[in-house]
Amino acid sequence: MERTLFQEEHSLLRSTFCEYIKKSILPDYPKWEKEGQVPREMWLDAGNQGWLCPTAKQEYGGLGAELLHSVVIAEELSYQGTPGFFISLHNDIVFPYLEQFANESQLRRWVPGCISGKTVLALAMTEPGHGSDLGRIETRAVLKNGEYVINGSKIFISNGQLADLFIVAVRTSSPERPHDGISLLLVPSDSPGFARGRNLEKIGLHVQDTSEIFFDDCRVPEENLLGEENRGFAQMMQNLQQERLFLAIGAVAHASGALQHTLDYVKSRKAFGKELSRFQHIRFELAEMATKIQVTQSFIDDLIPRHMRGEELTREVSMAKYWASDVEFEVCDRCLQLFGGYGYMSEYPISRYFLDARVQRIYGGTNEIMKELIARQLGI
Ligand SMILES: Cc1cc2nc3c(=O)[nH]c(=O)nc-3n(C[C@H](O)[C@H](O)[C@H](O)COP(=O)(O)OP(=O)(O)OC[C@H]3O[C@@H](n4cnc5c(N)ncnc54)[C@H](O)[C@@H]3O)c2cc1C
Repeated sequence: MERTLFQEEHSLLRSTFCEYIKKSILPDYPKWEKEGQVPREMWLDAGNQGWLCPTAKQEYGGLGAELLHSVVIAEELSYQGTPGFFISLHNDIVFPYLEQFANESQLRRWVPGCISGKTVLALAMTEPGHGSDLGRIETRAVLKNGEYVINGSKIFISNGQLADLFIVAVRTSSPERPHDGISLLLVPSDSPGFARGRNLEKIGLHVQDTSEIFFDDCRVPEENLLGEENRGFAQMMQNLQQERLFLAIGAVAHASGALQHTLDYVKSRKAFGKELSRFQHIRFELAEMATKIQVTQSFIDDLIPRHMRGEELTREVSMAKYWASDVEFEVCDRCLQLFGGYGYMSEYPISRYFLDARVQRIYGGTNEIMKELIARQLGI
């Protein structure tokens, strides 16, 4: 599909990163899946190659690249079937919290490590009792003698085993509207009273380390407040636009990758004396999927520059996240079916596309919550 969004420099970047994935990520991916995480050396290598936080400003050692650079990286990881290496969470979802809300000394302290891979990032909002209703979180932080003392726990935290710096949503006051008492704290993993739980076993995204984390009188200095006290909910809402846009970007790229694998397969696999690609049903299946992908891609490509210009896109981005992740799951499921029994075998990448796709309808705000947001924007 011809896309007008990108320039020559982005095509070059895409082919270089694609080569990197084929050479440095894909060969060891099955091993990392068994280990349940991507090794630290890979994060450092990715940092060394310039794949981490490309939008970071040059004064902190970054490339100062525009967001499209990051879009290419996120798309290619998903397209190649390696979305579980959560570079995009680090680059596009958590790092923007530092870019937007950190003060000068916080930026100087943390950004260089985010670029090099020495500081892997995680965002801890969800709690065992509160996922969709984020406004009611209970993990509490009390300011005492110049330190925040944190008690509570978070669950399903991506990069949870590896992360060195957690951006944690905590309750700092109990106003009538619970949303107004939330703040964001920077919690380094070596803070006293901080502990990681086990690496949770999941049905897909096996290379992703997803964990529970615990705060037992965990102490961080007052200077680790990110932005203003009690403004955390508004800060999260502000950044959810980019989070959901990038989930949609990854979803449609992942669906495209699954389709490409399937196109290659149906041209070579034979049944009843001819290639699968010559059966009308299979041709129509693929034609329908390609159409859905292209329509979805056009919608997302319209949103990317508008997001970059700073437009408020709550309605459109909610639509894109829900729509693209539904299309992704449908495409991966239908593609797997066209592989027959081989599609169910772990050694065939299409099985991983299918398994990794499922969670996209759940995290970043479930698709039901996206529909709630859309309905509200419709004035009902
Ligand atoms: C692999 C993985 C990685 C994750 N990574 C992170 C992370 O890095 N950081 C983080 O903070 N969180 C993370 N999450 C958590 C994720 O964002 C939550 O699981 C999600 O927001 C849903 O919350 P919940 O699981 O508590 O479900 P619930 O909120 O209990 O929802 C259960 C069901 O009820 C539906 N529902 C809830 N409220 C409504 C409503 N008002 N109207 C209609 N339906 C509703 C939901 O859509 C869902 O179907 C991750 C989750 C997974 C599975």
